Amino acid sequence: MPEIFDIAIIGGGIAGASAAYFLNGQRSVILLEQETSLGYHSTGRSAAEFTRRFHSKVTGQLTQASSGFMMQPPAGFTEVDLLRPRGNLLIADAEKADHLRQVYEHEQANAPEGASPVELLSVDQALEKMPFLDPDWVKAAFFDPDCWDVEVENLLQGYTRGAKAKGAEFRQASVVTAAHRESDHWVLETSSGEIKARMVVNATGGWADPVAGMFGADPLGILPHRRTAISVKVPDHDVSHMPEVNEIDEVFYFKPDAGQLMVSPADETPVDPHDAWPEELDIAYAAHYLSECTTLEVTHVAHSWAGLRTFAKDRLPVIGFSGQIEGLFWLAGVGGYGIQTSPAVGQLAASLLTGTQMPSNLTRAGVDASLFSPSRFES
Ligand SMILES: Cc1cc2nc3c(=O)[nH]c(=O)nc-3n(C[C@H](O)[C@H](O)[C@H](O)COP(=O)(O)OP(=O)(O)OC[C@H]3O[C@@H](n4cnc5c(N)ncnc54)[C@H](O)[C@@H]3O)c2cc1C
Repeated sequence: MPEIFDIAIIGGGIAGASAAYFLNGQRSVILLEQETSLGYHSTGRSAAEFTRRFHSKVTGQLTQASSGFMMQPPAGFTEVDLLRPRGNLLIADAEKADHLRQVYEHEQANAPEGASPVELLSVDQALEKMPFLDPDWVKAAFFDPDCWDVEVENLLQGYTRGAKAKGAEFRQASVVTAAHRESDHWVLETSSGEIKARMVVNATGGWADPVAGMFGADPLGILPHRRTAISVKVPDHDVSHMPEVNEIDEVFYFKPDAGQLMVSPADETPVDPHDAWPEELDIAYAAHYLSECTTLEVTHVAHSWAGLRTFAKDRLPVIGFSGQIEGLFWLAGVGGYGIQTSPAVGQLAASLLTGTQMPSNLTRAGVDASLFSPSRFES
C-alpha cells in the first residue's frame, strides 16, 4: 500500500466503482465504503432498467455513450449478459388515451440513434403482452422494444474485479469521518485508520453535500429523494417474459423481478441522506395502482424497500474538480439513471481525473463535460 495514494474514492456504489474501473491502473487508487458491502444503498435498490427513451437529452447522450459497453462489455468483465431484453409497455386510462397517442407520435418521429420503432397497440394486443391488465382501465397502449433489465450485481462486480486487477484497493466498513489538508495531500480519518491521498473523489450519492463539507466545501444543493418499491406474487401467471409496464406519465410502473412483480409508485420525496425505508402510504399507493390497472387482487406485499435518487438542482450529474477546494472531485447527482449511465459517467470521471481526452464514444454521443462542472453551483 502506498504511503500516499494518488486518488481516494469515497463511496462504493456504482459511481465510485465505475470511476475506479475506468481509471484503469493509471493512478494508485483506494476506494472507501462505509458499509460492509458495496452497492448497499441506491445501487442495490434500483429498478435495474436500461432504456433509450423517456429521459432528458443529456441523459440520452450519456446512455448512448454507455450502450456499447453495456451491450458488449470487454472480454472477461462478466460471465453473463449485462442487458436482458425486457421491452416497455406504455399504458393510459381513458382520460390520458389521447395524450398517450401524442407521446407515441413524438417517439415515432424522434427515435434515438440505433433505437427500434415504437409500436402502437390495440388494447387486445396489450393484453396479449400482459394478460392481467384490466381492459376497463387500459384504453391506449404502445410498446417500446428498447428497454432492458440490467444485471446490476454483475455490473458492480465487474467494475470492482477489473479495478482490483489493475491494483485498486477496496476497503469496506470504512466510514470517512473527517479530513484535513497536509502540504500536497488530504488526510482522511476513517473507521479503519488514516488514509492519505492527493485527490479525493466524492462519490457518496445522497451524502455528497455533507461529505464535501468535511473538506470545507459549500453544499451544492445535491438532494436525495426517496423512491419506493414493493414486490408482489402473481399466482397463476409466469411473468418472467412479460414487459415492464409504465403509466404514460410514470405515475407508477411495474416489472417482472425474480418471478414476482416489482411495483413502484414513482414517488420522489426529498429526504435527508439515510438508510432509506419505505413509508406505509407509498407502499399502499404502489398496491393501489397495481390493483387499479390490472385484474390482480393485491392482498399481500411480499417485500418492500426504498432507495435514494439523488439530484442536483438542474437534475444533471455533478462531475468534475471543485473550483473551491484543492484536490476535491465531485462525482454525484446521477439521479434516476446512475446504473445505466455508469459506463459513460465512470469514463468521463477518469478522463477528468487524469487530464486525458474524453473517450470517443462520449464525444460521438455529444456528451459535453462542461454541463456537469460543479462550478455551476459554486459561488
Ligand atoms: C427505486 C429506485 C429505482 C431506480 N431505478 C433505476 C433504473 O432502473 N436505472 C438506473 O440507471 N438507475 C436507477 N436508479 C438510480 C440508481 O440506483 C442511482 O442513480 C445509483 O445507484 C447511484 O449510485 P451512487 O454510487 O451515486 O450512489 P450509492 O449507490 O448510494 O453509493 C454511494 C455510497 O457512498 C457511501 N458513503 C456515503 N458516505 C460515506 C462516508 N462518509 N464514508 C464512506 N462511504 C460513504 C454509501 O454507503 C454508499 O454506498 C433507481 C434508484 C432507486 C432508488
